[in-house]
Amino acid sequence: MSELKGKSALVTGSSRGIGRAAAIALAKEGALVFVNYFNSEDKAREVAHLIKSGGGDAVAIQADVSKPGEVARMHKEVHDRVEGLDVLVNNAGIHQHLKSWDLKNEDWDEVIATNLTGVFGCSRAFIPDMIRGKWGRIVNVSSVIAYLGTDHEVHYAASKGGVVSLTKSLALELAPHGIRVNAIAPGYIDTDMVSFASKDEERHYLSKVPLGRLGKPSEIADAVVFLCSDRSSYITGQVIHVNGGLAML
Ligand code: NAP
Repeated sequence: MSELKGKSALVTGSSRGIGRAAAIALAKEGALVFVNYFNSEDKAREVAHLIKSGGGDAVAIQADVSKPGEVARMHKEVHDRVEGLDVLVNNAGIHQHLKSWDLKNEDWDEVIATNLTGVFGCSRAFIPDMIRGKWGRIVNVSSVIAYLGTDHEVHYAASKGGVVSLTKSLALELAPHGIRVNAIAPGYIDTDMVSFASKDEERHYLSKVPLGRLGKPSEIADAVVFLCSDRSSYITGQVIHVNGGLAML
């Protein structure tokens, strides 16, 4: 399949985990992929190298998505390579395992700035490209926690709930321009983000997952590719739940 031949895609936070898998999967569909990273330069370059050695094309770009000035620089660097961006996957995210009463203002601000303001800032930067091209796909990575809540990171839950609302409103605004906007809400996926859990905690989480295992990053990447392809041509403003049955919504 080469559903995205001739298209360009930016995946935020694609040096590791889900973003890495999404970048590789989009490149396999023929897209030129911009591999955004924050701290993990070596890992981002490795993802770009892997894509190129498989016959695809990729460029690693450093930017902190929580900082509007860095998003503007990333936009310029993308434009140094292509006239406009076609696909944006807002995946970059952080979490902090803290009770609400232990949260400092800075903790709240950092999580909201990365997970929610970052999604808005990147979307705002690249939407004009998509409107000009009369074609676009935006896929935002939310979380099952937006729906179930959590007893240890209320700021993360709030940021991911915000991503769902943002997705629906952007979908309404952008549908007349040929741009579809959707979200994916992963359950427990086997990445660095869940590595904080002890073996006991992992067993406890998995006991709630009907399919009885962690998800793989590639299983989220498959949903990303689907939402960017013509196979989802009548889907916009939706959230696809990829969670092994943890929440049936
Ligand atoms: P991960 O393995 O911890 O990777 C996070 C990625 O985000 C890294 O590439 C990191 O870049 C990047 N990043 C963090 N802060 C950034 C910033 N300010 N600017 C740009 N990039 C930044 O996480 P993951 O599990 O793959 O999670 C990816 C997304 O899925 C997140 O939005 C997360 O909330 C969501 N999610 C994950 C799970 C799960 O179980 N894993 C479940 C639900 C939702 P560097 O390495 O370069 O710093």
